[in-house]
Amino acid sequence: MPAVTVENVLALPRISEPDPTASHQRRVRSVTTAPAGFEGEGFPVRRAFAGVPQSELDPFVHMDQMGEVEYAPGEPKGTPWHPHRGFETVTYIIDGTFDHQDSNGGGGRITNGDTQWMTAGAGILHIEAPPESLVVSGGLFHGIQLWVNLPRSNKWNPPRYQDIRGSEATLLSSGDGGALVRVIAGEVSGHEGPGSTFTPITFVHATVNPAAKLALPWPADYNALVYVLAGRGRVGEEGRPVHTGQLAGFGPGDALAVTADRAQESRSPNLEVLVLGGLPIREPVVHYGPFVMNTRDEILQAMEDFRAGGLGRVPAGAMPHHHSGDETLE
Ligand code: MN
Repeated sequence: MPAVTVENVLALPRISEPDPTASHQRRVRSVTTAPAGFEGEGFPVRRAFAGVPQSELDPFVHMDQMGEVEYAPGEPKGTPWHPHRGFETVTYIIDGTFDHQDSNGGGGRITNGDTQWMTAGAGILHIEAPPESLVVSGGLFHGIQLWVNLPRSNKWNPPRYQDIRGSEATLLSSGDGGALVRVIAGEVSGHEGPGSTFTPITFVHATVNPAAKLALPWPADYNALVYVLAGRGRVGEEGRPVHTGQLAGFGPGDALAVTADRAQESRSPNLEVLVLGGLPIREPVVHYGPFVMNTRDEILQAMEDFRAGGLGRVPAGAMPHHHSGDETLE
């Protein structure tokens, strides 16, 4: 799992650990196991947030762990052109390469540790697929797509695109020096990540060495989620066990702890986690296919606008998609 790594974690700025006497360590509210499924034209995903009430995810809506998968030559699959409205898609590639193009002129290629942060706002069309070279050669693919909701006041914003290189992530070390923390958006212990967000959120990828502990200050007014990309560990004040493909949701508090088990699987020598949270938007959420709005009427309007071409047009010289499929709203 390359993402972005460093020679010497100890040379990075250290996260000041929450004072155990003055802070309130969060306890685990729920642990859920992501069911496996397929997205687009058939790339394997884990639905990280399945079974968790929207109120506990707020301001997030949906998250897929894409792969980890070793593709055979000719096998990699992407999505056809499809619309979005009312939220942001955040695509973080850990291993492999992904191409993206949208109807607003955004797009590009992302690989090991890069993030594409696409604000659909009032509407956009896009395509997400592995590059031709990866289709021909096959290879390793592993990434995340997170959906970040927009408040009512920003759902009709013009679309926007942020191309965040892996090298731009803010790199920190845990207090014990045993974890590499990549801040992609938001702030950890006074260190800000590069991603710009409409409402306050924090999005972190941490690699925790066996037996090391990641202790984070975490804003009391944010929700808190830890998703295990790979490995085994314990989370929360009570040290609840979690493993690959599990999501822990936390109760109230202003500090968060993740500890890696001493023994890890050989295919993943460290505990790899995403730590994410934000200020809940606390508005009604109606999520249907590629649209996330406040009301059912707004969903019907989005479908009508899409049919009428109002969410954007596939640009000239558009990226092809390699498999012919039906027009899909997924
Ligand atoms: Mn999409």
